[in-house]
Amino acid sequence: MPEFDLIRRLQEIVSPPGTETRDVRVGIGDDAAVLEVLPGRRLVLCVDTLVEAVHFPQGTAPRALGHKALAVNLSDLAAMGADPAWFLLAMTLPADDDAWLDDFARGMAVLAAETGIALVGGDTTRGKLTVMVTAAGLVEEDGWLERNGARPGDRIVVSGVPGRAANALAALARNCEPDSGDRAALEYPMPRLALGRALRGIATACIDVSDGLAGDLGHILDQSGVGATLDLGSLPLAESLAGLADEQRWQLQLSGGDDYELCFTLPAARTDELPEIARSADVALTVIGEVREGGGLGLVRPDGAEFVLESAGYEHFGAGEGAGERT
Ligand code: ADP
Ligand code: MG
Repeated sequence: MPEFDLIRRLQEIVSPPGTETRDVRVGIGDDAAVLEVLPGRRLVLCVDTLVEAVHFPQGTAPRALGHKALAVNLSDLAAMGADPAWFLLAMTLPADDDAWLDDFARGMAVLAAETGIALVGGDTTRGKLTVMVTAAGLVEEDGWLERNGARPGDRIVVSGVPGRAANALAALARNCEPDSGDRAALEYPMPRLALGRALRGIATACIDVSDGLAGDLGHILDQSGVGATLDLGSLPLAESLAGLADEQRWQLQLSGGDDYELCFTLPAARTDELPEIARSADVALTVIGEVREGGGLGLVRPDGAEFVLESAGYEHFGAGEGAGERT
């Protein structure tokens, strides 16, 4: 399909006439998009690139890839407490494949419609399969979340069940069929936008978990100048993980990537608000630890002993199989 037709096809599926929001003054088709930003609001911008065989296995279903390329960016907006507004799609495609493109666009279109984000432009080139999405969101002028506000005594909370995507990837690397819930977590992660919104004014720090819970929580701790203790016995469980040996499960839940859950801190006195936040955001929330003074992350087993994470956890789940290595 010629480049012009390809762009028109993408537009037809992801951004059909009539669905563009009024704040898009100029969308796809001109040299750049023109967008209306209201006074008193702040623009939140992020970009994420997915490279085949690095960020997703070769042969990933195009529909899942379309969903995920947008989802990982929406997850960054969620972590900032932002409302999704617009996105740009830069694609590098190895070959003409109309059916592939349609499925990719449909996967993206469903999530875009659900979350109210509008495709307003992009770029299309030929080469190794790579999808780059740039997403823009909006927040009130004093309403966003950052990584740097965790204070000693704050509780640490995680949404959902971390480790499921990594468990699916591990199964695929062994040529086994993953648990269906784990596979959904890997291929169709749902960005926690409602949770991010609900945490404005409550969370002292927030991050989305994309590279493993321990490492990503570490970014909150470093940027906040604090340390923390995690209680491994309180990590949320799924049936698919319950059968693993404790050490294997902790390794998976703490260092497996691709969760796209939110990890955040909040004052201990506000933990009684968590059940209502969980209900309103329709996601499980679990207190897994506490912020303390100093630095570093202590991992405490149920028997009170310390658990030592293998630093290169990610390699277990697919290096050489075409997924897992991050930059
Ligand atoms: P230019 O040469 O000025 O960069 P292009 O020919 O690359 O313009 O793109 C034409 C229009 O199509 C622009 O509005 C651009 O944003 C849009 N576009 C190109 N590729 C994509 C894509 N993959 N998804 C969405 N819009 C795209
Ligand atoms: Mg261009």
